[in-house]
Amino acid sequence: MYISKSFIPILKNNPSEAKIKSHQLMLRVGMIKQSAAGIYSWLPLGFKVMKKIEQIVREEQNKIGAQEILMPTIQSSEIWKESGRYEDYGEEMLRIKDRQDREMLYGPTNEELVTDIFRSSIKSYKSLPQLLYHIQWKFRDEIRPRFGIMRCREFYMKDAYSFDITDEDALFSYNKFFLSYLKTFKRLDLTAIPMAADTGPIGGNLSHEFIILAETGESKIFTDKRIFDLDSEGTKLEKDSLKELRKKYEQFYSVTDEKFNKTEFEKKVSETNRLITKGIEVGHIFYFGDKYSKPMGCSVDLPGGKKDFVKMGSYGIGVSRLVGAIIEAKYDEKNEVMKWPISVAPYDIAIIPMINKNDNSALEKADKMNSEFVKNNIECIIDDTDENFSSKVKKMNLIGAPYQIIIGKKTEGDVFEFKEIGKETKNLSLAEIIKIIKEQKAIN
Ligand code: ATP
Ligand code: MG
Repeated sequence: MYISKSFIPILKNNPSEAKIKSHQLMLRVGMIKQSAAGIYSWLPLGFKVMKKIEQIVREEQNKIGAQEILMPTIQSSEIWKESGRYEDYGEEMLRIKDRQDREMLYGPTNEELVTDIFRSSIKSYKSLPQLLYHIQWKFRDEIRPRFGIMRCREFYMKDAYSFDITDEDALFSYNKFFLSYLKTFKRLDLTAIPMAADTGPIGGNLSHEFIILAETGESKIFTDKRIFDLDSEGTKLEKDSLKELRKKYEQFYSVTDEKFNKTEFEKKVSETNRLITKGIEVGHIFYFGDKYSKPMGCSVDLPGGKKDFVKMGSYGIGVSRLVGAIIEAKYDEKNEVMKWPISVAPYDIAIIPMINKNDNSALEKADKMNSEFVKNNIECIIDDTDENFSSKVKKMNLIGAPYQIIIGKKTEGDVFEFKEIGKETKNLSLAEIIKIIKEQKAIN
């Protein structure tokens, strides 16, 4: 892609309305454009990143056996009246009337709708477990939308739902998502810590929020530092192995402020291991048993001929919020340098050719290089403008492709100035460059 042909409306300076760095960068490089309070259009750069995040989320859901569906954004109020949440949900729910005067709403979450889908088709315990998910826009009329797409009104979410018959099986499902979340965030190069959390309007009694540390986060957290050394390495998709995984994490105190208890914290965590800080919630999982299945009459036949209400959990990931969360974690705002993890980078590599009025050879080299990249599934952005070198570098540093190539006066033959953002420049051949990038992409 040539910069001159791209739709990447870069601003010269930081927009003054943005208070946190993800919002600043997203407006600065034109990843999003606000259309109303808390409602945004996604422009090519932002959309590319979000779609890559979505795909990783999807792959990790599929790996645990969840099946993808797509539910509508607009729902009927009937099912919400059945569950009793139509009144309870309050002002965050956007309520709409259609031309027949029927009460509709823009879905803030989908427990009711998915329960209705399930109950109309699944009649026997033999079809369990069922893990269903979709990736769809949600609307919550947040009282104070802020920080760009971090807390907005319309946002993109992956929400999954599990259906089982015994508590034990339901917790097995819960733990599958626990694992898949750790793996998802790892592929996004984020350290997300599961923390015991309140269940809020979703309900239930078991819940974890997945939080990444960030000074600008809105969640206050209290943890034992040792939890940051853990990972899900070696965990199998089996009941016992997953139980062990949760135990491993739960041995360390780690809660959000709603669950905070000072005495417990000080008793369980030595002074040197205590960490009180802020974070961004990127995912949230809940187990709530028959909270929805019971009022909605969602039951299945049991082996002996009896029936029972299914036990459910729900599992959200803020796909659009993650775009901002990754920027919060990776953007060096002081030097104005962004480095996207290769797994979600809008472009894998940026080529900066030094172009003179009467010499097009650098751009020709860039074009040739690009066709090699294309063959190798490497996505590249080329600055074909005649701006000066330093402003080209500045621009590419904001766009954040993790690798850069400079084609300048010093470039001779088949050796190029190659740089991974944040590291030393090296002189490498195109074949060596392709090898490095392909290796990095393969890890993800
Ligand atoms: P929060 O406490 O941040 O309001 P929540 O507990 O209401 O989040 P859930 O209902 O668990 O959120 O939604 C699942 C995920 O969707 C959250 O973990 C978060 O990443 C994302 N999310 C929730 N509300 C918003 C919002 N207003 N803007 C962007 N993303 C959101
Ligand atoms: Mg909320």
